[in-house]
Amino acid sequence: MRAAVIEEHGEPLTIQDVPYPEPQPDQVVIETEACGVCRSDWHAWQGDWEWFGIQTGPGQILGHEPAGVVADVGADVEQFSEGDRITVPFHLGDGSCQYCQRGHANICETSMPLGFLDAAPGAFAEAFPVREADFNCVTLPDAVDFTEMAGLGCRFMTAYHALTDRADLRPGDAVAIHGCGGVGLSAVHIADALGAEPIAVDVQEGKLDRARDLGAAATINADEADNVPGEVHAVTDGGADVAIDALGIAETCRNAVGSLDKQGTHVQVGLTTDEEAGEISLPVDTMTLQEIDFHGSYGMPPVRYDELFRLIDAGTLAPSKIVGETLALEDVPATLSSMGAYETVGIPVIDEF
Ligand SMILES: [Zn+2]
Ligand SMILES: [Zn+2]
Repeated sequence: MRAAVIEEHGEPLTIQDVPYPEPQPDQVVIETEACGVCRSDWHAWQGDWEWFGIQTGPGQILGHEPAGVVADVGADVEQFSEGDRITVPFHLGDGSCQYCQRGHANICETSMPLGFLDAAPGAFAEAFPVREADFNCVTLPDAVDFTEMAGLGCRFMTAYHALTDRADLRPGDAVAIHGCGGVGLSAVHIADALGAEPIAVDVQEGKLDRARDLGAAATINADEADNVPGEVHAVTDGGADVAIDALGIAETCRNAVGSLDKQGTHVQVGLTTDEEAGEISLPVDTMTLQEIDFHGSYGMPPVRYDELFRLIDAGTLAPSKIVGETLALEDVPATLSSMGAYETVGIPVIDEF
């Protein structure tokens, strides 16, 4: 079967012929119908993130935002069979540790990120295996098509968890969203849909235009602003209730924290680049005196899909609005390259394998 594979960090991915996966007893093999292309793929391709223990090596098939159909079932799998329409979260849990048992599989003890490690080849391929399939597979409702599901991928669900579970967003809250890539635009749409007031910050007018279309109450071009936190304070009458760093560089993180009102909540969603290597200095005394909360947020516990699907069904949320262009598998190398310059708008989705 065909797959997009890392040959060397930073060198264009190559489309290769690789063996079709055989399911282990706990696994299913999914025939890929759609898969999002994400900044996390770009990071892995650059060789980032060894500072927290993920080193994606040459030979890796990337791709972690899939939707597809079960094509083959391991001997121990009980709940899924051939032909089922499914998706999986990018953080495949073991199903047995204390976090998985308590409904927090996104922070599983032995979390296996799909498409980033040898043991979990990804979905930039005609098919891919899923560990602990009974635990990780999620049935796709009829109302959600494959492309929309791939758009929900990691960024939309990450933004949903960040806003609802980690920030405890309330209607009327002002939310400053720093960085309007896939996760940032998702956060704009979700915040607006849930009755909050999103303020979108980015350096590209095209992304700010998209944010306005998705319901941003105000936008700030960080390249033109002398003082980004000051501008957020001006448009929110004293500071945001919630701020999100949806990019993961020192500047957006500090701007996000600085844009908060007293007792505001910062949610860090973006993982850092090799520039920061996981370390960003913050105004801790100010945060203490102003009772600012700093939360990390990673993916979304799979138990939360039900609520997301209900809101999609009700027409409140529409992940398809964040989908950018649709691509064929052979377009992936060029799309990934263009992410270095932040040229993609919305979430590119492969729908042709
Ligand atoms: Zn676990
Ligand atoms: Zn992703």
